[in-house]
Amino acid sequence: MHAEFDKLAREAAQANEDYQHYLLRLTELEVAARASNAVQARIRQAGFPLHKDFDTFDFTAVPALSKPKVLELARGEWIEQRSNVCLIGSPGTGKTHCAIALGLAACRQGRRVRFYTAAALVTRLEQAQKQYQLDRVLGQLDKTDLLICDELGYLSFSRAGAELLFQVFTERYERKSLLVTSNLAFSEWGQMFQGERMTAALLDRLTHRCHILEMNGESFRFRESMKSKRSKKGD
Ligand code: ADP
Ligand code: MG
Repeated sequence: MHAEFDKLAREAAQANEDYQHYLLRLTELEVAARASNAVQARIRQAGFPLHKDFDTFDFTAVPALSKPKVLELARGEWIEQRSNVCLIGSPGTGKTHCAIALGLAACRQGRRVRFYTAAALVTRLEQAQKQYQLDRVLGQLDKTDLLICDELGYLSFSRAGAELLFQVFTERYERKSLLVTSNLAFSEWGQMFQGERMTAALLDRLTHRCHILEMNGESFRFRESMKSKRSKKGD
């Protein structure tokens, strides 16, 4: 308001606007600025590694993925309903891109989001446990409406690491949303968690109320690099 009151007052005087209108316009500007700052803060707090949105996502490159379904998820009702999303597919098919874009959409709706790769999340939890800070870190995660856990499956975890991740996933069950991306089909998740029983229990909770999107297809990175090679050759 401080930044704008003078300019707006001059405009109001020129337009012969009354005081109520001037005050209303000034207040509206302040409210809009606050809302925009709040969204920016949500986005900062989410810790996205990159800025990826749906405007740069080419749905025709992933025919297996339903565009209407993804755009419906971008409206965020699934987060309201405390359900989950799993994006499963081979490397380079746009899982991280979509995960970030869905996370951004949630931030814009005023939701609290936190993005981690699975490896970074496990490291964070293990460190917290060592420093007797686990409860505090779990409490922080619990405050988020949406936890994104990217790249589950590239690394297998130690038993202790897997148990910590299991604990996070279990605590969120039916209370908060999770978005998980993985290059592994569910049938292969046993490799990651060392143990059929824990894997089964985890999958049971994760997939109970879950939108599962399969994103298999050719790698977008690979296709792009082939395209640029071809155009360099001049054909
Ligand atoms: P994944 O996480 O499945 O391995 P990424 O989301 O990291 O794949 O995608 C790899 C790169 O290709 C990123 O730069 C991403 O923005 C881009 N990309 C992937 N799929 C698409 C797509 N359908 N449209 C536009 N860019 C895409
Ligand atoms: Mg990825």
